[in-house]
Amino acid sequence: MSKFEANLEQVEQYLGRFRKEGIQNHIAGKSVRAESGATFENTTPVDNSHLADVAKSDAADVDAAVKAAQEAFPAWRAMDGAKRRKILHQVADAIEQRAEEISLIESIDTGQAIRFMSKAAVRGAENFRFFADKAVEAQDGKALRNASQLNYTSRRPIGPVAVITPWNTPFMLSTWKIAPALAAGCTVVHKPAEFSPLTAKLLVETAEQAGLPPGVLNLVNGFGETAGRALTEHPGIKAVAFVGEGRTGSMIMSQGAATLKRVHFELGGKNPCIIFDDADIDRAVDAAVFMIYSLNGERCTSSSRLLVQDTIYDEVVKRVADAADRIKVGHPLDPETIVGPLIHKVHEEKVLSYFEIGRNEGAQIMAGGEKVGQEGCYVRPTLFVGARNDMRIAQEEIFGPVLTAIPFKDEDEAVALANDVEFGLAGYLWTNDLNRALTVSDRLEAGMIWVNSENVRHLPAPFGGVKGSGIGRDGGDWSFDFYMETVNVCLPTVTQNAPKLAK
Ligand code: NAD
Repeated sequence: MSKFEANLEQVEQYLGRFRKEGIQNHIAGKSVRAESGATFENTTPVDNSHLADVAKSDAADVDAAVKAAQEAFPAWRAMDGAKRRKILHQVADAIEQRAEEISLIESIDTGQAIRFMSKAAVRGAENFRFFADKAVEAQDGKALRNASQLNYTSRRPIGPVAVITPWNTPFMLSTWKIAPALAAGCTVVHKPAEFSPLTAKLLVETAEQAGLPPGVLNLVNGFGETAGRALTEHPGIKAVAFVGEGRTGSMIMSQGAATLKRVHFELGGKNPCIIFDDADIDRAVDAAVFMIYSLNGERCTSSSRLLVQDTIYDEVVKRVADAADRIKVGHPLDPETIVGPLIHKVHEEKVLSYFEIGRNEGAQIMAGGEKVGQEGCYVRPTLFVGARNDMRIAQEEIFGPVLTAIPFKDEDEAVALANDVEFGLAGYLWTNDLNRALTVSDRLEAGMIWVNSENVRHLPAPFGGVKGSGIGRDGGDWSFDFYMETVNVCLPTVTQNAPKLAK
């Protein structure tokens, strides 16, 4: 039996319970249906067939989940950091033990190739380990001294928080938000994306089996405009950590305004990969191809605009097009597959529509530009050339395996093109000139810049975007700044007499 066949057989075994029981919410340690009994259908983009019926929650379910998070909060907050660290390491161990199940289920649910999803499951465990180790120091603050005072700060968990996640690599992304919230001492209500609800259920189950107390992490499934909306409006929720589209971020900001919610937004990107003619072209091309065509291009940090110095433009686009033509598109559980089906037919239609939009704008397709097969949401890796930066294919986040290449003359033009978009999440810069690397990095409007590298993460480093790409930073201590309140205590170090107001 090939590994592919073995994966297909194995995933069916794992899916058995979901097909039979559906996906329930998970509130106060219990699996529960939506109070209304309503469900919605979850499908696989492999062939658009049914995977599971999922609880379609509304405000009543959200209220129950928030109450559970509120009840669990005092004990979780009061728990010694070392004990929280131990529990979160146990969660990481349990994720590692279930990594095969998580990655196979994630692949079939999202269409992401198993070669990437097996790493994403392990990265989920790493996220828990990283923040587990920081749980002990999360409340630490600063001592601020002047001639007459000692001020000291400490941090306290803000309270129950909402974590609202999208459908691209949902397991890994959710752990990146949930692990720091739990390490900080917050309790969580998680609402996963309606297109990819399966692994969120595995996460809460695994965490509780590993020792996370009931009610500390709760799950409500459902649509953004109902369940998501109710969660962001709920007065019991103190902060909303959201990953998704900018448009949704705006809605969440206004929905949370009445209850003065703290928000953290990780939004979209139209990230430039800038290649100067002094760069190592082989490595630059490999990285550009990797950053747009891995994870189906459904990646916020994908390098979706390829800006190439005009002296090497023809050679670079030819090499990228050759690579795109040779990338294997196929079933996500086939270990040979690089690009699997896009998440859902709604999204597939959006991505396909850009082929027409780009052609009508006057760009040419040098690779791909078509659907693959009749069944499922498969799209060929695509390269647009002859494009200008003001075209929609250069300005809008397509969120698929679609790259738009644009030539530039010099540093000034490269920077102007790179910055001329509404987004500012990531930038990739390829040059062997040290001064150029430093000056161009300084001028790029992006929250994260990688020089001579693809997106290789270092978990203590800040993650987040500027402009339309987000508000706030994750990673290292930055995560705790969001999930915690800083409190200052002031002590006089000399006798201090207040001015007497009464005569
Ligand atoms: P989306 O904004 O449509 O949905 C994200 C989540 O928000 C879902 O759970 C959805 O149900 C919920 N939601 C929708 N409307 C809501 C409302 N009114 N109130 C509360 N919740 C609501 O995004 P998507 O299509 O699922 O994901 C793709 C987007 O996510 C892309 O723009 C991508 O760039 C972005 N993304 C960003 C990052 C990052 O770190 N910057 C990472 C991954 C994805």
